[in-house]
Amino acid sequence: MGSKDLKFNSKTIHGGQKPDKAYGAVMPPIYQTSTYAQSTPGGHKGFEYSRSANPTRTALENSLASIEYGQFGLAFASGLAAMDAVIKLLNPGDEVISTNDLYGGSYRLFSQIFEKYGITFHFIGMQDPNKIEAYINDKTKLIWVETPTNPMMNIIDIKAVSQLAKKHAILLAVDNTFATPYLQRPLDLGADIVMHSATKYLGGHSDVVVGGLVVKEEALAQKLYFIQNASGAVCGPMDSFLVLRGIKTLHVRMQRHCENGEAIANYLANHPKIEKVYWPGFEDHPNHDIAKEQMNGFGGMISFITKGGSYKDAIKIVEKLQLFTLAESLGGVESLAGHPASMTHASIPKEEREKSGVIDALIRLSVGIEDKDDLIADLEQAIG
Ligand SMILES: *Cc1c(COP(=O)(O)O)cnc(C)c1O
Repeated sequence: MGSKDLKFNSKTIHGGQKPDKAYGAVMPPIYQTSTYAQSTPGGHKGFEYSRSANPTRTALENSLASIEYGQFGLAFASGLAAMDAVIKLLNPGDEVISTNDLYGGSYRLFSQIFEKYGITFHFIGMQDPNKIEAYINDKTKLIWVETPTNPMMNIIDIKAVSQLAKKHAILLAVDNTFATPYLQRPLDLGADIVMHSATKYLGGHSDVVVGGLVVKEEALAQKLYFIQNASGAVCGPMDSFLVLRGIKTLHVRMQRHCENGEAIANYLANHPKIEKVYWPGFEDHPNHDIAKEQMNGFGGMISFITKGGSYKDAIKIVEKLQLFTLAESLGGVESLAGHPASMTHASIPKEEREKSGVIDALIRLSVGIEDKDDLIADLEQAIG
C-alpha cells in the first residue's frame, strides 16, 4: 500500500516515510552533516551539500507533502522564512491581496521588508470573498489567506477565494498553521500553496522553530526549491527530526485540542463576566457554516474579552493564570495565554489592529491537551 492511499491518521506516521537505507532505522537518523563524499566529481547518492538537501530534511519534506495532500514539501528555518520564499516568487511592481487580520510577524514581513522592494500589499477583510475582486488588477499575483485568522478567529471561504484566484490566474497561498491538515486541507479546496509555521501544532511540543510549504504543481515546486536553495533559510536536521516526531501524534493531539477547546469556549461563553468569545464552533459565529464545511473540527484557539474589559483587566487575568502559561506562540501540548495587543500583534499599528478587532481587552488562549477540568478551574480563579 503506497502512502498516498493511506488515511490521514496513518499518513501522519507513515506518509512519505521509509526505514533508513543504511541500517533500517525506523526513525530517520539526524544527518548532522554539511557535505557528502563523492566517488568522482558529481558522483553522489542524491545529496551534495545540506543547504540544497539533507536526508533528515527530505524525510520531513515528504511527510509535509503527504499530510497536506500535496506532491512537494519544503522545510524552512521558520514559518516566516517559508513565507519569505513565497513572496520572492514575485517581482517589483507586483501586488498581493492579504487577509488583514493575520499573524503580526506576517504583517511585519510584508509591510516592512517587501514593501521596500516595490511589492504592494492590500490588507483587507476576506470574510466576504466578493469584496476581494475590487482589489484585483493586472499586477495582482498572489492572494494570501490566513484562516482561521489570528487572533479574531474569522473564517475565510478557501474554495470561494480559490475560484476567484483561478478566474484571474492569481496564485493562492493559505497559512494553515492554526487549522493544520487534521482540520483543513487547503490544496484540496483549490489553493496553490499551503504554508505552515511548524513551530506550532505540527511540531506540537514548543521545542522548535520550523516552517513549511506544500504545493501540488511541479513547476511551482521547482521555483520554490530554487529560492529555498538560493536564499538558504533551510531547516536543520535536528529540527527536521523534532517536527517529524511531532507530526506522528498530530491527529491524537488535535482531537484533544478540539475537545478541550469546545469545553473551554462553552465555559467562557456562559461566564457572567465574559462579554464575547471568538471561536468558530459557535453557531452564531458569522462564518460558522463555512467553518463547518471546510473544517473537520474547530480547534483549540479561542479569544475573548471581559465585560467592560480594559487593558488593565486583560493584563490582570493573564498574570493570574497558573496552568495557562503567559507566552507567545501556540499549538503545543501545554496551554498558553497571550495578550495580542502587547505581544504577538504589537508590531501592527494600534489603529490598524483595532480596525480588525484586536483591542486592548482581548485575550487569546491556545488550549493544550491537559485535563479540561484543570484548565477551567484555572480560568475560574483568574477571571474571578
Ligand atoms: C507563528 C506563526 C507564523 C510565523 O511562524 P514562525 O515559525 O514563528 O516564523 C506565521 N503564521 C502564523 C499563523 C503563526 O502562528
